[in-house]
Amino acid sequence: MKRIVIKIGSSSLVKKGKLDEGRLDSLIKEIKMLRDNDIKSCIVTSGSIALGAYSIGVKPKDMKMKQACAAHGQAILMEGYMNASLKYGMKCAQILVNHDDFENRERMLNLENTLNTLLDNDIIPIINENDALAVEEIKVGDNDTLSALIAPMASADMLVLLSDIDGLFTDNPKTNKDAVLIKRVDKITDDIKAMAHPSSTEVGTGGMETKINAAIIATTSGVDMIIQNANDLEGLHKAFSDDYSGTLFVRNRSLNARDQWILFKTRPTGSIIVDEGCLKAILNRKSLLASGIVGVSGFIMDGDVVNIVYDGRVYAKGISNFADYDILKIKGHASKDIASILGHKAKGEVIHANDIALLEE
Ligand code: GLU
Repeated sequence: MKRIVIKIGSSSLVKKGKLDEGRLDSLIKEIKMLRDNDIKSCIVTSGSIALGAYSIGVKPKDMKMKQACAAHGQAILMEGYMNASLKYGMKCAQILVNHDDFENRERMLNLENTLNTLLDNDIIPIINENDALAVEEIKVGDNDTLSALIAPMASADMLVLLSDIDGLFTDNPKTNKDAVLIKRVDKITDDIKAMAHPSSTEVGTGGMETKINAAIIATTSGVDMIIQNANDLEGLHKAFSDDYSGTLFVRNRSLNARDQWILFKTRPTGSIIVDEGCLKAILNRKSLLASGIVGVSGFIMDGDVVNIVYDGRVYAKGISNFADYDILKIKGHASKDIASILGHKAKGEVIHANDIALLEE
């Protein structure tokens, strides 16, 4: 039995402030067809704020009003999903999450258990950010990223981002008629990231940056990802064939859960800046030692996840054994001298090799 996570955005689901019931019906019909072909789906949906705002009759600007709109709109959204699922003889369930639900281990395990119990029991999980209670600091922020975090937790083989564009283009297709659709991406290089640059591709590929970010998370976590036009819902069941529409990003790594957590589910508040020799050691899966540290920035407590930076670029993230003020004292020194510098017993490595996750192999 295969599993697929399908993300659908507000612009594809909300028309003139109302739920596009025809579109939702086609989506659920397609999900039923996938189910009949032994593929179980999980949905990440947007739309709560847009639906709530229209129904209440406001244009929400401040956080409180957005939260109120989300609380109301989420109910409208779920009514639509419940009705459409019932029509096709299926059941669905609502899960609302925030960033904490991924960062905090206990909450993450709860989420994973609920998600998998629903899928095991043939109930479609319908997931959204818990916008009604969220403030900026605790949000994942966008549903592309949210769906990429969900996909490996649901043991999905594929993540499909349904959007109002056909896929990733070499340039903005609305302004450059020579722009071509990229069918397959095996490696997310700097060139690919540049294609999603918001300033160069404002109109046609708006939101492409978060989609590329989602592709990085999905493909390094062992999940393939497709960006596909939401107009082509019939194309969904072709996602597992060579006949797919849109852009396919092929999985290239299968990070374990701990490395996924370090890289994608934590928010480092500080960085350790290393020299070239230290970077080479880290890329060769060695520990980060005090002798290779040239600087620290931000705020670090022992046990915090930090960025590991060389020449202005983040190469890895890891769990620091020391706070920033101690790192400043021991940087550049040999490990054997750490205890005498700090005046107490301490670990030999600033970050142990097992606690380092590389952004790229
Ligand atoms: N969670 C938001 C909503 O349902 C949308 C976020 C997004 O589209 O990325 O309104």
